[in-house]
Amino acid sequence: MTVQPKVDTAPHVSDEVRQTTCYMCACRCGINVHLRDGKIRYIEGNRDHPVNQGVLCAKGSAGIMQHYSPARLRAPLRRVGPRGSGQFEEISWEEALQTATDWLAPIRKSDPRRLAFFTGRDQSQALTGWWAQQFGTPNFAAHGGFCSVNMAAGGIYTLGGAFWEFGSPDWDLTELFILFGVAEDHDSNPIKIGLGKLKTRGARVISVNPVQTGYAAISDDWYGVTPGTDGLLILSLVRELMRAGKVDIDYLSRYTNAPWLVIRNPGKANDGLFLRDDDGTPLVLDRVTGKTAPHSDAAVRVALQGEVKVKGGGIAVPAFTLMAEAYLTDDYAPETVAPKVGITAARIRQLAADLARAAFEKEVVIEQPWTDWKGEKHDRMVGRPVSMHAMRGISAHSNGFQTCRALHMLQLLLGSVEAPGGFRFKPPYPKPPHVHPKPAGRPDQVAPETPLAGAPLGYVLGPEDLIIGDDGSPQRIDKSYSWDAPMSAHGMMHMVISNAVAGDPYPVDVLFMYMANMAWNSSMNTRGVMEMLTETDPETGAYKIPRLIYSDAYSSEMVAYADLVLPDTTYLERHDAISLLDRPICEADAVADAIRWPVVEPDRDVRCFQSVLLDLGARLGLPGMVDEDGKPKYEDYGDYIVNHERKPGIGPLAGFRGADGAAEGRGAPNAEQLDAYIANGAFWHTEIPAEARYFKPANAAYQQFAVEMGFYDAPQPYAFQIYAEVLQKFRLAAEGHGDQQPPDHLRKRIQTCFTPLPSWYPPFEGSAVDDEAYPLHALTQRPMAMYHSWGSQNAWLRQIHGHNPMFISQALAAEHDLTDGDWIWVTSHHGRIRVPVAVMAGVNDRTIWTWNAIGKRKGAWQLDPEAPEAKKGFLLNHLIHELLPPKGDGMRWSNSDPITGQAAWFDLRVQIEKAAADEPAESWPQFDTLPRMNGEDAPEATLRYGIEWTSRAQDTADKGDKS
Ligand code: SF4
Repeated sequence: MTVQPKVDTAPHVSDEVRQTTCYMCACRCGINVHLRDGKIRYIEGNRDHPVNQGVLCAKGSAGIMQHYSPARLRAPLRRVGPRGSGQFEEISWEEALQTATDWLAPIRKSDPRRLAFFTGRDQSQALTGWWAQQFGTPNFAAHGGFCSVNMAAGGIYTLGGAFWEFGSPDWDLTELFILFGVAEDHDSNPIKIGLGKLKTRGARVISVNPVQTGYAAISDDWYGVTPGTDGLLILSLVRELMRAGKVDIDYLSRYTNAPWLVIRNPGKANDGLFLRDDDGTPLVLDRVTGKTAPHSDAAVRVALQGEVKVKGGGIAVPAFTLMAEAYLTDDYAPETVAPKVGITAARIRQLAADLARAAFEKEVVIEQPWTDWKGEKHDRMVGRPVSMHAMRGISAHSNGFQTCRALHMLQLLLGSVEAPGGFRFKPPYPKPPHVHPKPAGRPDQVAPETPLAGAPLGYVLGPEDLIIGDDGSPQRIDKSYSWDAPMSAHGMMHMVISNAVAGDPYPVDVLFMYMANMAWNSSMNTRGVMEMLTETDPETGAYKIPRLIYSDAYSSEMVAYADLVLPDTTYLERHDAISLLDRPICEADAVADAIRWPVVEPDRDVRCFQSVLLDLGARLGLPGMVDEDGKPKYEDYGDYIVNHERKPGIGPLAGFRGADGAAEGRGAPNAEQLDAYIANGAFWHTEIPAEARYFKPANAAYQQFAVEMGFYDAPQPYAFQIYAEVLQKFRLAAEGHGDQQPPDHLRKRIQTCFTPLPSWYPPFEGSAVDDEAYPLHALTQRPMAMYHSWGSQNAWLRQIHGHNPMFISQALAAEHDLTDGDWIWVTSHHGRIRVPVAVMAGVNDRTIWTWNAIGKRKGAWQLDPEAPEAKKGFLLNHLIHELLPPKGDGMRWSNSDPITGQAAWFDLRVQIEKAAADEPAESWPQFDTLPRMNGEDAPEATLRYGIEWTSRAQDTADKGDKS
């Protein structure tokens, strides 16, 4: 007789459902957390949520195992062994907070710069940045400098916004979607939903990426470009489109600065600047009158060619004329660039033809009248259905900023930004650089016991905004906003530890970090950084970084190097604001923000880091964190989210404001605000009016909407900046003009790299090493199932990726006689690692790559020392140095983009050789095994969760009852 399995068609899943926001990656999807017997039973996607519309990925559903991870810290810790040994004792919160206060208070009284406060992928930068400002230190940044600042800054300086959190493809109307260098985990659920729409409609997807995995695996066409040459490919496409006349002249004339007149006066201080009227308004040439006129003049019919004489000398020509001169040369001919790019000339031409066809033969029209900022009425919205998405793959190079700008120029030439079918901004973007704050931190902006005279991070508009001393010296510990990296809008976190240890430009007394695994996967030169963190002064024996405070929820590798550990909660135990003041979650048609709240209470002695920060701020008496009596102004982070106002009526959350909770955007604090969010599924959103949805930078209705919502205080219409005058200002300084000039050793580099029109130059590391000695490129990316270092401690996600092989092409495998599971040595100018290989088809022949942050140090994250992550997993970071190889003059440049300081992770050049047959099958290097830092015993060998709720458990219970 066949025994039928018992199927429960209506299982009792949960006693209660609480809605909050996922934090298993940066997408911030809405989730429904099912609770049963006081524990988390199940997580599902929130169907009403604007970000994910019910979709939940593997990471999101594995949040249960993140929440119950054996690696969770359980109480504040004080180091008792040598730094790096991982030996701690548990202390009370009072002791921990008093210790931190005792360390920080004297710094604030003497020199606030001696605190360096840096955070990783935290989602509360509106708070952490403000806290640093109130403390008075300019030494603050989050992870952007080592992630994708080139993409963000390239976007802001060109378009007034960038991809992902700043904007998205017009998924419903686009006909051709091109992905440039996007990692698998990137923009996870939103992009998957969008790709699903494209595939359903039969729209075309093209991937430009050295590796054809993830989203590239479902592309209709794949361009396996050589790393670091994306910019060259893009400029070749620009050339082909311009030669064929396949550019949108009307769009360029109306919405970009292509018609603005640029002065040509070689050798003079105004060369390359815009010709302006007495009010400073850039001028254009009127093709009807032949005279100049302000670009804001609605009546003018702009010319894209021609010239005018400039009073005092020289001429001025439209920026478009300079574009034609720059790009219609054989330097960018497909035949010229093909050998470097690794794509045949015919395929480059094909890609240009595909772009032209989609843009100009498939025009999209929305029958929606609108009015532009000059008052001109338009009957309809007309667009070109080509959209793009790009991220770290093209930006994490020393030429990444210019590459990102080149990509945006390509979009603009096609007329496909903020037009139907193209790329669209998500509020509060668009927001051009002049609407952002400028960074503060110059000597006159820092003083003891005084807040910094502005935000530590911002957008510079010329040399006069640099954070340098009178002698031109860097003033921030990471040397951001100095001549080393003038436009480093996200800071340079990868330089903090090495600069602090070197005391260059000055030492720090306390390094305070949050969620930044700098002693492992977040650093270049990982071994070197571990040594720096333990380096002592030979005379005093004191650590070169005297105090290190670290906050994290888990016992990561970095915890071992802290003197004081402030244990954070998991994302299900905390308040958070997914704020418009920070990294938004809006859609192109709607404004949205969200919260997290404690859907379960902590069962350990841990506290939400942001609450701890506010507590510390109050103990230090930081302005804005104490009331008139010196008492803490905020009870905790939840209280701050509701009651903090950045300016009157503007707070962390835009929804349910005002006394009655009915106000949106602007409004007085509402004591019931968090309850209103919770009742609404933990988010708020409001639609953008139909006439305001496209052409946002030029759309009068959108500009008005943005003012009402509090994004700006007055309308800020602007033109897209293909020609970036700000870059030319730095070049002029390098040529010897102005009061602020770079040091001599940087002049040539600035003149070469800071071109006001997007350009391409070879990645620095490739130019600094011998091509024959290091013939291969090496890359990393995150897999879909993991998020930074968190994923590979998660019992469910580890089953998807237990270790990370080095993927190599079939051609390389044949050349080196390698097959799956063989071991190789990979060598760079800086180091050597031994790793296992896997052979694959879809990879550029001269490129090898692996997953990042799966390799773990033995013992860290409460993993077994024999875990595959430690034995077979590895980091590519050991091969990458934060400095480039020495040059002939003995100087070493930072391994960064010279404009933004973005860490050039993907410039890495290597060689490979097969490991000897008798070598151990273990990755190398290995380091001392860390103890179980959270004080917990080893977890069970097999972690199970939820068996008590299964029918198997019920059967066991039934049998037990009968026995
Ligand atoms: S995409 Fe990211 S935020 Fe969304 S469910 Fe997955 S892990 Fe969570």
